[in-house]
Amino acid sequence: MSLSVVTGAARGIGLEIALRLSADGHELLLVDIAPAVEAAAAELGADSVCADVTAPSGLEAIAATVKDRGDGVRSIINNAGITRDARLTKMAESDFRAVLRVNLGAAYALVDRLRGELIDGSSITSMSSRAHLGTFGQINYVASKAGLVGLTRALARELAPRTRVNAVAPGFTDTEMTRAVPEAVRDRIVPAIPMKRSGEPPEIAEVVAFLTSPAASYVTGQVVFVCGGRGIV
Ligand code: NAD
Repeated sequence: MSLSVVTGAARGIGLEIALRLSADGHELLLVDIAPAVEAAAAELGADSVCADVTAPSGLEAIAATVKDRGDGVRSIINNAGITRDARLTKMAESDFRAVLRVNLGAAYALVDRLRGELIDGSSITSMSSRAHLGTFGQINYVASKAGLVGLTRALARELAPRTRVNAVAPGFTDTEMTRAVPEAVRDRIVPAIPMKRSGEPPEIAEVVAFLTSPAASYVTGQVVFVCGGRGIV
């Protein structure tokens, strides 16, 4: 059976996506720089590659696993992401470039590496963020996530009709990434969300599962906000 590749799958939203797609019957290849990806994959009977998605050797290992399995790629979920928050005046250029490299560059590189393996009816789903609208103090992250929206829209045109390409834009979701946000900041963010709470990873995974499924067979080039209404205020 063809594989679905999920990056950043060792924890958080990526792990939840892996659990959800596994329940839907996907054969999975889980990728993460964190060694915990191996245990997560073993639990699901999935393949794993423990590698940096920005490293050519990581892409090589992913492509080799796909080739070994021999049935092509059903879905690519570009989920691996990092933050290095600072305002322009305090932003180190290396942090600007690092965030662009992981969040945007690796998504392009993975799609480029696997494009010849995408089967008819396949899909690509990238994890953008509501922040792509222009969150204060995150110019690198905002640029990377807005870049993913552009990549999604343009790829949707280039890869149709064989492959659908969409993005998901979560709002403030409860994972280790947001647990690192200072409590004072969190106390300002959550009351501003119309749903009055942060999101949960299964709520994001549910939308990804839809976008990868035949139920979304006429959905391409779209950005689906899953942000408790934060995208409209
Ligand atoms: P997380 O930090 O819990 O998980 C991210 C995973 O990506 C980690 O397992 C990490 O090891 C992996 N990763 C990071 N750099 C990597 C690299 N170079 N190579 C391979 N793996 C790498 O974060 P999360 O909250 O689960 O976020 C998942 C995605 O959702 C990210 O793209 C993030 O930007 C996006 N997102 C998160 C939120 C949120 O509020 N949590 C909101 C909007 C978008």
